Amino acid sequence: MTQQIYEYKDDQNWFIGEMVGHNSIAWLGNEHQIDGPLEEINRVIDKAVGIDVFSEEEWNHPRGYRLTVVKCVSHFKLIDFILKMVNENLNRQLKAKQHKEAILIIEKDQLLTVHLPDGGIEVDHFFGTGMSDFGDKLLIATHNEGKVKEFRKMFASLGIEVESLNDYPDLPEVEETGMTFEENARLKAETISKLTGRMVLADDSGLKVDALGGLPGVWSARFSAPEPTDAKNNAKLLHELAMVLEQEDRSAQFHSTLVVAAPDKESLVVAADWPGYIAFELKGEDGFGYDPLFLVGETGRTAAQLSPEEKNAISHRGLAMKKLMEEFPTWQNKH
Ligand code: IMP
Repeated sequence: MTQQIYEYKDDQNWFIGEMVGHNSIAWLGNEHQIDGPLEEINRVIDKAVGIDVFSEEEWNHPRGYRLTVVKCVSHFKLIDFILKMVNENLNRQLKAKQHKEAILIIEKDQLLTVHLPDGGIEVDHFFGTGMSDFGDKLLIATHNEGKVKEFRKMFASLGIEVESLNDYPDLPEVEETGMTFEENARLKAETISKLTGRMVLADDSGLKVDALGGLPGVWSARFSAPEPTDAKNNAKLLHELAMVLEQEDRSAQFHSTLVVAAPDKESLVVAADWPGYIAFELKGEDGFGYDPLFLVGETGRTAAQLSPEEKNAISHRGLAMKKLMEEFPTWQNKH
């Protein structure tokens, strides 16, 4: 029987594992070199798995893993990857959960072990009695359950729980009075963070059309005010571009800015654009907003003709979320 090979890869992490031998983790090309942080992770997982690697039975029939690390920025992702491999092969239900900068290993509501960063964590900070107690939950500043679902899925991979404004019905509505996407996203994230004392993520997005000097921009949702709808916004956009007859002159970008704010901390800001062209007529059934008019690059298809998965993989929001996932762990560990 051939041994199954497991692999995890993103821009900053790359792990390859198999269930052979005694638990071991090593850098690619340095299999015999002891590495402090990786050894520590190995010890923590040994303890959680609870196999006595020195017992005769285990020595003769080892059930452990062998892991090769090519790149590693997130210890959480490394531990999460190993636990999934162990769960599948040893029929366990181990889970990694991030709390402050520590990684807890839990099985069925039972805390088994904790992996701490070098130098440990201040006790007040860990238990949340200090000023910086915004916990390991993230409040998404939206009522839109579709958006919440997407963010929940992404942050689960970092062990972070997500809640939304629907969990805080008494909060006032924050007006989007900014002149830029960043101003609006900051306004929402930082105001709600101040009001709740929590870590808050807000997004602002819209369509920028070059021939209209960047309009509708931050006014995308309200383009056909006073009673805007997607259909009226699209009709107005077609009207405004009626004299722009060449497809190449109808270039546009969808834009997304994401801001994460927390009390007493500089906010994290990421942004991304998705380039395309405005079509001459509406095409496609999927998506929302200006999707039926947004031609994706040179494909001839509009964003409304893409499946949600296809759109998320290349869209402004997908790209901004990817950047956020890369920068969030480092930002979170800053005091
Ligand atoms: P908000 O970021 O939720 O305020 O969205 C602003 C507006 O920009 C939306 O109401 C849409 O009109 C437009 N918009 C933002 N992202 C997209 C998209 O992915 N497809 C279509 N329209 C979008």
